[in-house]
Formats: sequence, structure tokens, C-alpha cells
Amino acid sequence: MKKLYNRSYFFDHGIHFECQRCGTCCTGDPGIIYIKKEEFARIAEYLSVQVPFFIEKYLYPIKSGYSIREHADGRCFFYENGCTIYSVRPDQCKTFPFWFENLRSQKKWNRISKECPGIGCGPLHSKEQILEII
Ligand code: SF4
Repeated sequence: MKKLYNRSYFFDHGIHFECQRCGTCCTGDPGIIYIKKEEFARIAEYLSVQVPFFIEKYLYPIKSGYSIREHADGRCFFYENGCTIYSVRPDQCKTFPFWFENLRSQKKWNRISKECPGIGCGPLHSKEQILEII
């Protein structure tokens, strides 16, 4: 683990980021919205439904876990003029855009930076904080 922190990255000096809640990452092309089992209860409670109903209505199984369903146009089931579960959204949503696949190269990051207007805004996230999120 220490090795990971001692290496040099293109984000050595950190990255400014603050979500602008534009919805770009919640809409568009279909994708997988991973949700962990330990996140079911807090979202179900927020929606005032039982966990089995929540799973049945909003999720589908994928690999060894679950993904949130999407509308036919690729929009997240919980996106309706903004995220309707924002305060309890899954970690996958909370940690975007600091995903391994986005940070593996400067080229990938440049691409995601063009799509996400939150990159370059808001507080500075240090290299250590970013690695922690990954
Ligand atoms: S694309 Fe970026 S700014 Fe827009 S909702 Fe997603 S994380 Fe927030």
C-alpha cells in the first residue's frame, strides 16, 4: 500500500472537484450502477420501502452483486431532474469521477474532464485523498 502512495501520478498536486449536479454521469449511455448490499437498507429506508421491495423494483443482479436499473434512454432510475436519492446515493456515485478507470492515465482523465463540469471546480482533493477514494 505504501508503494502506491510513494509513486508519482499526474495528480500529484491534487485535483479540484465539486459536483455541479448536472446529471451527465447519471444519464446518457446505459451503464452499470453498482450498489453494495450494505447500502440497500439506507436507500430503502430513505424511500420508505422494505428492502425486498427495493431490490425487486429498483435493482437487477449483475456478476456477484447488483446494479440500479435504468430507463430505456440510459437514465438512472433515480434521476428525475436531479438525483432523487442524492443524500443516500451509492458509493459508486459518491466517488465519481475518482474511479480507477478514469485515473489510470492522463489521457483517460482528460476525456472524463470534458464530460464532467465539476472537475476543476471546488475544493482541492489531494493525491492521498484521491488514492484513498480509489
Ligand atoms: S458529471 Fe460531474 S458535475 Fe455532473 S453530476 Fe456527474 S459528477 Fe456531478
